[in-house]
Amino acid sequence: MSAIAENIQKYKASLPQEVELCAVSKFHAVEALKEAYDAGQRIFGESRVQELLPKKEQLPSDIEWHFIGHLQTNKVKYIVPFVSLIHSADSVKLIKEINSCAQKEGRVVNCLLQLHVAQEETKSGFTIDELEVYLESGEWRNLTSICFCGVMGMASYTDDEAQIREEFISIRSEFDKIKQKYFADNTKFRYCSMGMSHDYAMAVECGSNIVRVGTGIFGERIY
Ligand SMILES: *Cc1c(COP(=O)(O)O)cnc(C)c1O
Repeated sequence: MSAIAENIQKYKASLPQEVELCAVSKFHAVEALKEAYDAGQRIFGESRVQELLPKKEQLPSDIEWHFIGHLQTNKVKYIVPFVSLIHSADSVKLIKEINSCAQKEGRVVNCLLQLHVAQEETKSGFTIDELEVYLESGEWRNLTSICFCGVMGMASYTDDEAQIREEFISIRSEFDKIKQKYFADNTKFRYCSMGMSHDYAMAVECGSNIVRVGTGIFGERIY
């Protein structure tokens, strides 16, 4: 069995059944994705549109493509026709653009609201306050071509496990809070996407139900 296939099986065996595994394949060659596919993996996460489009062309059509990186508004139209889930809806402007492209395409696009709780300034997303202001405004209720399916967040890149735990817990609490307050009648609002290779176990302990694992499956990325 290939190393990639073994890693896929190892993650599937160790994750609780209700936790989905998004195999983050950015910067890895199509052959590597094919190995993961042959091992049964169907959800793949990519973070760059110009990389995702040619990969999609070369791989089976039953793959569910998740977009996980910062998405520029001028590139939304290229992925809207096929993307299964955008984890990184990180601004009102982007949300409006996704809705408008989806409407033209006659599709409803699934999105997660990206929360910024980490200390790094470089990470994007809504702060908890910004998200609550946006949801309270109600303007998103008119966006009929987007389905909000939950939240995504990243913890700070640190060795301080207590801090990572605290950040994951605050993402999960916000998920629970807004689910109850705004999305109680939306059964598709059910994803809390947290955890990468180095912190997925803690993310699951804190209530993640999709982990985004790249290096742990495919090895180090060569940029
Ligand atoms: C690259 C990336 C991952 C995967 O990171 P690994 O450390 O390789 O597991 C997860 N989430 C996002 C948003 C990413 O950009």
